[in-house]
Amino acid sequence: KPKHIAIYGKGGIGKSTTTSNISAALAEAGHRVIQIGCDPKSDSTTILRGGEDLPTVLDSLRDSGRPTIADVSAIGFGGVLCIEAGGPVPGVGCAGRGINAAVDLLHELKLFEEFKPDYVLYDVLGDVVCGGFAVPIRNGIAESAFVVTSSDFMAIFAANNLFKAISKYAPSGGARLGGVIANSIQTPYASALIDDFASRTGTNVVGYVPRSLTVAQSELYGQTVIEAAPTSEQADVYRQLARHIAGDHPVSIPKPLNAPALKQWAKQWGDRVFGGAAERRLVEVV
Ligand code: ATP
Ligand code: MG
Repeated sequence: KPKHIAIYGKGGIGKSTTTSNISAALAEAGHRVIQIGCDPKSDSTTILRGGEDLPTVLDSLRDSGRPTIADVSAIGFGGVLCIEAGGPVPGVGCAGRGINAAVDLLHELKLFEEFKPDYVLYDVLGDVVCGGFAVPIRNGIAESAFVVTSSDFMAIFAANNLFKAISKYAPSGGARLGGVIANSIQTPYASALIDDFASRTGTNVVGYVPRSLTVAQSELYGQTVIEAAPTSEQADVYRQLARHIAGDHPVSIPKPLNAPALKQWAKQWGDRVFGGAAERRLVEVV
């Protein structure tokens, strides 16, 4: 039985890069993997496929009515089956529609029975302000979810929103949280801040991914780090993360902070940078 895992995070935080490297690492370890991009931008699997474009499920449904698996997928690095759900015409309709349509079609076409994946990874844009994006965690599609965050407040804010959605849906069969993936780490301060947020919300950090030039360079080749720089330290970071996700990782229902508590928490971390309230006022004046 395949494991279905959703990876969420704020826009631009590194979901697709992280998810694609995890997929590549799992494939390299001999697993059968499907990666489904659930982002209207539909560039989730680009670095698994040398940067080529792939028709989205939603576009194919619009154009041909009844696409086949071959129409809406491509085999990427290590045999990873890549699919992009796609999204509505910009400005029209709900961005979550592509996810629903894609999942329905893939079931109809019996993809999971025929491809027999060990892992199905969903790369989901996750500010979860729109119910559409909650689809993979809402109705039993994914059994666990991870969130990618940096130490930026808006990324933490989006992670906290995801925790709200998980804690709402988990009791009625929705996904549980596997933990937090800390991305673009450059300082001990950044990892300490994310650690603290995780412990305040009843979860834990499952991996620290450094900000690395190797990621940027690999992206320019249209490749994951696993493919472009397999002997790099960064590749090993992704392999370790992949092993954690592939294993029997613990899951939990997170305890999101309410708005005032989140603000209060953020202020405390601001004070650590500015050395206390008085000094912070001084910095603001300067
Ligand atoms: P979107 O919400 O737009 O889909 P995303 O969350 O999927 O974005 P990515 O596309 O994976 O984000 O990453 C955004 C940019 O950040 C990319 O150029 C990527 O190469 C870079 N990036 C991600 N993680 C790292 C890292 N650890 N080190 C260096 N660059 C990174
Ligand atoms: Mg992306």
